[in-house]
Amino acid sequence: MNLTAKNCSFCDGQLKLGTGTMLIKNDGSLLYFCSNKCRKNMLKLGRDSRKFKWTRKYVKGGIKKSR
Ligand SMILES: [Zn+2]
Repeated sequence: MNLTAKNCSFCDGQLKLGTGTMLIKNDGSLLYFCSNKCRKNMLKLGRDSRKFKWTRKYVKGGIKKSR
């Protein structure tokens, strides 16, 4: 486990030490957010980061649906 570098749970961008937010969910899993923008998008808006170009998880051309 690397304690020095964390990646944002939403956009997958790297968190710098001392920045960002850590959230512990009720089920015990950890979430890290680089900014309030990411936190809001995931928790409040329930968005899928793969659909947004500003995240590193963005899937080019959109998510493929299984037929
Ligand atoms: Zn982020």
